[in-house]
Amino acid sequence: MAESASQRAEREVGRRRPGFRLLEEIGTIVTESSDFGASLQGIVRSVARHMSMEVCSIYVYDPARRLLTLMATAGLDPSSVGRITMSVDEGLTGIVVEKLQPVMAIDALTHPRYKYFPETGEERYHSFLGVPVVDRGQPVGVLILQTSRRRRFTTSEVRLLRAIAVPISSILAQTQLQANLATKEEERLTYQRRMDDAIRRLEGYRSTPEAHSHDGGQVRLLGVPAAPGYGIGRAHLIKPDVSFSGLPRQRTGSVKSELARIEAAKKRSARELDRTKERIVATVPEIDATMFDAQRMMLEDPSFEARIEAAIREGLSAEAALEEAVEGLSRHFTELDDAYFKDRAADIKDIGQRLLRHLLGVREKTRQFVSSVVLVGADIALSDLSLVEQEGLRGVVLARGGGTSHASILARSLEIPTVAGAEHADTVIREGDHIIVDGNAGLVYVNPTPEIVKEYDRLTKEYRAFNRDLETLRLLPAETPDGHHVALCANIGLLGDLHLANLHGAEAIGLYRTEIAFLSHRDFLAEEEQVELYHRIVTRMEGKPVTIRTLDVGADKYPRYLNAPQEDNPFLGWRSIRVSLELTEVFKAQLRAILRVSAAGPVRLMFPMISGVEEIRRAKELLAEARDELTMAGQPFDPNLPVGIMIEVPSAVQLADQLVKEVDFVSIGTNDLIQYVLAVDRNNRKVGSMYEPLHPAVIQALAVVVRAARRAGKQVAICGEMASDPMCALLLVGLGLDNLSMSSFFIPIIKRLIRAVPYGVAQDLAKQVLTFSTVAEIKSHVFTVMRDLNLIDLIEMYH
Ligand code: PEP
Ligand code: MG
Repeated sequence: MAESASQRAEREVGRRRPGFRLLEEIGTIVTESSDFGASLQGIVRSVARHMSMEVCSIYVYDPARRLLTLMATAGLDPSSVGRITMSVDEGLTGIVVEKLQPVMAIDALTHPRYKYFPETGEERYHSFLGVPVVDRGQPVGVLILQTSRRRRFTTSEVRLLRAIAVPISSILAQTQLQANLATKEEERLTYQRRMDDAIRRLEGYRSTPEAHSHDGGQVRLLGVPAAPGYGIGRAHLIKPDVSFSGLPRQRTGSVKSELARIEAAKKRSARELDRTKERIVATVPEIDATMFDAQRMMLEDPSFEARIEAAIREGLSAEAALEEAVEGLSRHFTELDDAYFKDRAADIKDIGQRLLRHLLGVREKTRQFVSSVVLVGADIALSDLSLVEQEGLRGVVLARGGGTSHASILARSLEIPTVAGAEHADTVIREGDHIIVDGNAGLVYVNPTPEIVKEYDRLTKEYRAFNRDLETLRLLPAETPDGHHVALCANIGLLGDLHLANLHGAEAIGLYRTEIAFLSHRDFLAEEEQVELYHRIVTRMEGKPVTIRTLDVGADKYPRYLNAPQEDNPFLGWRSIRVSLELTEVFKAQLRAILRVSAAGPVRLMFPMISGVEEIRRAKELLAEARDELTMAGQPFDPNLPVGIMIEVPSAVQLADQLVKEVDFVSIGTNDLIQYVLAVDRNNRKVGSMYEPLHPAVIQALAVVVRAARRAGKQVAICGEMASDPMCALLLVGLGLDNLSMSSFFIPIIKRLIRAVPYGVAQDLAKQVLTFSTVAEIKSHVFTVMRDLNLIDLIEMYH
């Protein structure tokens, strides 16, 4: 039969845009097949055919065992399915998982990470393109194309493959779940063996660190992402500028002159500490200023002074006397076996360094790095902080500490990519090593291969270009084409985050996590310190509202000074508002501080983790007391300060109607709500795939809260990470959320989405989704709607 004009046109479109047809075909395969294996096999066949590739394969990733297993292939020997297994440290496929980015090789066979499997007959294939299959930010597999011809894959092929990876992710996530359940016992044993191996390896590793750093060896270290971005440069090890070893022990001058030398060194050290404190605190107010004071006090501590003087009178030089005093005191503190005194031991050593430098007349490190430098050390002591402010600094790698250490906070404020907690970094890395710091993923590459360098060059360029593209959206309103406005706001934790919030056009601060400042301090912040900090935020937002959340400590965020109880289930324990309602004086100091800054600009107050009416009433009573105290003291505040709560626990959802009556607004904290509704620990990677924002139970809970807020005429926001995921955001808009608050980086992506989707379409989508009973139905429907709206690239950007 002759082909009609429209059939011809359709065929032509299909030929020119294989992606369109292919995505449709994959959508059908996914919705029509209930057998995961058959779906995956159908997908690879379809991809190979439409994209004219000789090989298309899918590997599934088992994060517990760090293994990749071939699950489906078109082009390789079919009998190798399920038999080809490789560690994530092997092969190009492993790099895709490591980096969570596409990896391309024109001639894979010559790539140093190429791994040959004779079972597959793979040696025929030269060109390789692999993209990660990601579910909720975690790798679940790899999708691969191979050709025998040496060729470069085009940008649209890469983009298409990434789009295909999206529907595959839900299949693989469910496959993983099934496999996990089926092999639980075996896994337990493997885990045990793995731990034994790891301990043995670690012991070996510690005893022979040279094995990792000599021979220009390539090492990859995993740490905590402490400040985002990519940094490339040569390692500069943070080492003391001066050392006690080799200095004369016997005195050369008189007792009097040695005592005078020490006195002069002390004066200079004190001045230097004061100057540094002033400078750093002005740039980064979250830095705990009391740590400077603690060192200052130690400098003048009478027992420290007495030890030095006694040693000088016994005939030692000022340097040797200082060494004895520092050694003696730090030994004493260390023996007390308490975290607080261990910090003091570190302080006294740092002071010793500073004093010695002044005794020897060596100036503070102020050198300018001439070329790109990555600072590497166990931690950054106060006496080294000035290094972090240098030009030419491209990254920081710390063996100790986490995202809230003072060094990390400083680096984030100065926008220097930083990885903290990268164990052994200070012993494995040598001065001058070539380093890549991936502050987004928490990875450090030491002497990386040219391929990895190239990949990171590309990533850096893409990252910049991506930011530039989205920048154009900054001044446009977040409005659907039919005029429905959704407020896009920023979640912040540090003053430094404000820069990004303004850069990306946040309309307001939807969540200020005050506990971040408390975590980096040595004690609860005093009321005045809080006022100063909050005041800076309110004034920097220039009239845009700031929602300040009261302290949300506990569970995974305990400041050391809180004397946290040992709890079996900290997420179900003494956390958040429960802590505040018990430590009423600390709580009221914070409430007074928030009230006081409300006189300086639009502020909203928000209580976290409210689980019942009694709790919000008690919190409001304390707020009333704080108001009365300020009135008595003649301190101004906004008498109409809006008060809201976070809905984060299932009981609050059940009681939404009653709770909204108590407040001016509600904000749904889905990070916690999801974990409590689904009983899935948000930080436990083992059950990470079960942590699912698009679970029907979660969506129903959101709908309950939105309806309750609507009935009461109150505003309803969402401030969990879910708001920044385009697939979720579309649904949230349709459900009727007024305000989406997220990490600033995602605001332009979500704005682009809102500006592309008529409100009616989003509402229809939400209505439909509320009738579904499985994650797969929800995801596939949202995906189809986004595909029809031509918004697949937004999903790619997010993942
Ligand atoms: C949440 O739980 O969604 C939330 C925003 O609070 P946090 O992530 O700080 O617990
Ligand atoms: Mg929370």
